[in-house]
Amino acid sequence: MTKAEKTYLKARQNLLKEKINNDEDPCGDIKGQEHSKRAVLVAAASEMPNLLIAPPSHGKSMLAAAAARLDVVAIETRPCPCGEYSNPFTACKCEPEQIQKFWTDRANLKMMPIQCEVPPVPARELLSKMTGTTTARQQEQLERMGPKPTNLTEPAKTLLKQATSELGMSARQIADATTVDAGIAALEGSKDIDAQHMAEAIHYRPLRLP
Ligand SMILES: [Zn+2]
Repeated sequence: MTKAEKTYLKARQNLLKEKINNDEDPCGDIKGQEHSKRAVLVAAASEMPNLLIAPPSHGKSMLAAAAARLDVVAIETRPCPCGEYSNPFTACKCEPEQIQKFWTDRANLKMMPIQCEVPPVPARELLSKMTGTTTARQQEQLERMGPKPTNLTEPAKTLLKQATSELGMSARQIADATTVDAGIAALEGSKDIDAQHMAEAIHYRPLRLP
C-alpha cells in the first residue's frame, strides 16, 4: 500500500468513526450478514485490512462503519462496473473484458488478505427481530482474545500445502493466510494454529473474483 493510500484510508476511517460516534452499536443494526460480521472480526483480530465486495445497497457501508468501530480499515467495492456480478438475483450486464479491466485498475484491492462477498440478506432475516452478532459482542470477543500462536499443527501444515498446490496460492497469499489464521486461532483462545483456523483463513482469499 502506498503512503497516499494509507493517508486516504486513515482519513476515511476517522470520518466513519465520527459518523458512528453517537451510534450505540453499528453492528447491531445490521440484520443477518453473520459471515460478513465474522470477516470484520477476523480482520480486527489479525490486524489485517478487509475488502467488502457487494452490489450497491447490500449493507457494505454499514459493515464498514461497524469495522471502523473495531479499528479495522475496511474498504468497500462493487464486484464489477454494473455492480451485480456477485448478485445471485440480478444478472450482471458487463462484458468479461470490462470486468477484467475493472479489477486490473484495482489490482491493490485484489491483493487484500481478507475478502468477503456481502450477500443479499434473505427477507425472513430482515423481518426477524434477532440482530445476531453485535459490536458489543465483537468487542468482548476481541478483549478476551489470547496471544497469537505461531505453531502450526501437522493437519494445518498439510492443509496449507494442499491449498498452495491446488488453489495456486502465491507466496504473498500464503504469508497473508498464516497471519490471518493466527488471528483466528487467538480469537478462539487456541494455543496452536489448527486446520480449522487455516481453513477459515484460506476461505477469505479472493477465490471468486473475476
Ligand atoms: Zn456487472
